[in-house]
Amino acid sequence: MVNIICKSLVIVSFVPMIIDADHSTDTRVQPTSRSHTDYQTLRVNGERMRADFEALAMIGETPDGGIDRVALSNGDLQARLWLADRIEEIGLRLRDDDAANLGGVYSGEQPDAQTLLVGSHLDSVPDGGRYDGAVGIVAALECIRILAENDIRLPVNLELIDFTDDEGTWHSLFGARAFAGMLPPEVTSELRTDNASFRAALGRVGLSLRDVPNARRDPAAIAGYVELHIEHGTRLETADTHIGVVTGIVGRTTYEVVFLGQAGHSGTTDMYKRRDALRGAAQFIVRAHDMVRARYGDGIFNCGNIQVEPGKYNVIPSKARLLVECRHVSETLMGEMELAMIQIARECAAAHGLTVDVEAKIHMPAATMAAGFVEAIESSCEALGLSHMRLASYAGHAAQALSQIVPCGMIFIPSTGGIGHSPAEFTPWADIIEGANALLQTILRLAYTNNLQDEE
Ligand SMILES: [Zn+2]
Repeated sequence: MVNIICKSLVIVSFVPMIIDADHSTDTRVQPTSRSHTDYQTLRVNGERMRADFEALAMIGETPDGGIDRVALSNGDLQARLWLADRIEEIGLRLRDDDAANLGGVYSGEQPDAQTLLVGSHLDSVPDGGRYDGAVGIVAALECIRILAENDIRLPVNLELIDFTDDEGTWHSLFGARAFAGMLPPEVTSELRTDNASFRAALGRVGLSLRDVPNARRDPAAIAGYVELHIEHGTRLETADTHIGVVTGIVGRTTYEVVFLGQAGHSGTTDMYKRRDALRGAAQFIVRAHDMVRARYGDGIFNCGNIQVEPGKYNVIPSKARLLVECRHVSETLMGEMELAMIQIARECAAAHGLTVDVEAKIHMPAATMAAGFVEAIESSCEALGLSHMRLASYAGHAAQALSQIVPCGMIFIPSTGGIGHSPAEFTPWADIIEGANALLQTILRLAYTNNLQDEE
């Protein structure tokens, strides 16, 4: 893998050279009086996009048809090389930043115009699926290819972007949050001593922690961000609908909840006099699940990990450390739900003679997609004859961070059986083509109407 890593180093530390071969003559400049309706018959090349998808799916593939391409792993680096090669093939200007976000710029009519971002992510969860993230990358690539092939220069610059560590292997939405200037200082603190592996992973792509804040982009230069992604749910499939028009993304808070009790001999300690940290934790998990189901129909509670100490057959657990998250589409109800959860933790600790420490780790506020983007996606679906419905996303996406600084929109396509983050993830290819066409027409609509031009 040495050559791969070395080549990655070359790529990410590469000072981009303006290639833009396809924009080299004035004869190709479109008159500014054009509108998106001039291009309403444009469609993606489904076979070419599929070839991209299949090639990408081979990178980090697992025996059961999944993908293992966690952020900054060998697989991720190899996928980044693959994307950089495609970017150069099309003749885009390669662009990267100090958070390892990678992409290519398709220059518009005016170099100093705003930039519309289109992309997703190449990384996966461990043992993830082929569609999550990859669909958005290959669709963005294909949309730009179609524009370049047809010599269409937009009133905006179009930037394809792969956001680093969207899945949170190291830090949730790391690249997108760095881009938006939302990373808390502790993430990039040089004083930390508990993040050696993350430093090393960044080092593999030629970056250092202290430079990450440089990835922040000026919102004034960005027209917005649009992403195509699989739904990770069953709402589109159940409603037999082609396209989900995302209106918002749930807020998410993660917690570390630590119950502390007293270790002791499991055989000789009276069953009624134990201070069993795991017993309190177990009761907390069940009660928190029940509370959210009963009182917050749109809310989510998850305990995804428990570490127990000392962790022996014959010793009463003295410590149980839980990793917990809450999600809700409403920031207000989310706050209420979190307070109720903390109260339950305290009650469960008190009931078993324990102490509990509840520490909030990451809070990503609920995000609203821009009305202009929602309308552009819906209008594009109408023009393409695709059925569509508005929905909220219960999964975090780059748009969650970016929408804090620039207008964003997301296009969902169905996930068969609602399966996500699994090798069993599947979306029929016809659905991906329809989603990519919706993305292409949305880009054109945004470029000519919503952002810079005022033609309609
Ligand atoms: Zn994703």
